[in-house]
Amino acid sequence: MKPAPFRYHAPESLENAVALLAEHGDEAKPLAGGQSLVPMLSLRLASFEHLVDLNGVASLSSIARTNGSLRIGAMVRQATAEHSPEVAGAVPLLSRALPLIGHFQIRNRGTIGGSIAHGDPASELPAVALALRATVEAEGPSGTRRIASEDFFVSTWETALRDGEILAAVEFPVWSGTCGFAIEEVARRHGDFALVGVACGVEVNGPSVVRAGIAMFGVGPTAIRVAAAEHALIAGGTGADLTEIGRIAANDLTPPDDVHASSAYRKQVAAVVVRRALSRAIAEATK
Ligand SMILES: Cc1cc2nc3c(=O)[nH]c(=O)nc-3n(C[C@H](O)[C@H](O)[C@H](O)COP(=O)(O)OP(=O)(O)OC[C@H]3O[C@@H](n4cnc5c(N)ncnc54)[C@H](O)[C@@H]3O)c2cc1C
Repeated sequence: MKPAPFRYHAPESLENAVALLAEHGDEAKPLAGGQSLVPMLSLRLASFEHLVDLNGVASLSSIARTNGSLRIGAMVRQATAEHSPEVAGAVPLLSRALPLIGHFQIRNRGTIGGSIAHGDPASELPAVALALRATVEAEGPSGTRRIASEDFFVSTWETALRDGEILAAVEFPVWSGTCGFAIEEVARRHGDFALVGVACGVEVNGPSVVRAGIAMFGVGPTAIRVAAAEHALIAGGTGADLTEIGRIAANDLTPPDDVHASSAYRKQVAAVVVRRALSRAIAEATK
């Protein structure tokens, strides 16, 4: 099937892109890598009279280390970030999550900002953002807004971006202590969206866990931070019973039942992937 007809706009500055969205309101949609939007248009699950292509906005494609964070422009390709030594050094969890997204052809076009703005509950990057406490920078008609990732993912494919706002960048805090990170997921085939997944980071000081971030994906309407499990890990330290922490994480979830997996299956697998991921993250931090 082909998409419904639309007018194509190719602004070369963020200011012009914001102005085009403001001019066309509900009838306009930003286009990034097109790996989610184009299939939706082609299947006629969505249609817009105007597409505002962000690919010509050069200012959205930079990666910069500032004030303890790595700021990644929205249009940085997933493949570029995946192969960036700067990203690997500053935000290892992101580097490890990126190869799990689809196939390399998808990552060659798909963008960091597109994945976060799309807010698919089974996507890896929203969970990485939540686990690390990233901040989203949005640019709109009334200026720049900074949104904590905790407040950003509202529901399936729904975020805190307001009408006319463009996600300009994501700031990932650089966890600079003695840290370990891991991402684990279960998918039917390599490259499929995860049925269940978890992204986690731990910072240790001797036997103490001084910081923990654990976020699940594929198990609810959005990526979900499992705060009770984080607290239990901090209370238990590096010797904590990880099976029990997996159980605590799963208890917080009401996963969907669908054609791919039952809710009960997802819940059971959630506990297992949390245990596995935490075990690897703690081993890395304490080696
Ligand atoms: C076969 C296949 C397998 C896939 N597997 C996975 C997977 O395992 N894990 C995973 O996470 N993803 C997967 N994806 C999706 C892929 O990661 C997409 O690249 C991503 O979800 C969207 O990024 P994009 O740059 O392509 O955005 P687009 O498709 O261009 O846009 C997606 C949505 O976000 C909005 N948007 C994009 N950028 C901005 C911005 N800067 N500001 C405001 N709104 C914006 C668009 O308007 C649109 O609504 C898969 C895709 C395919 C086709």
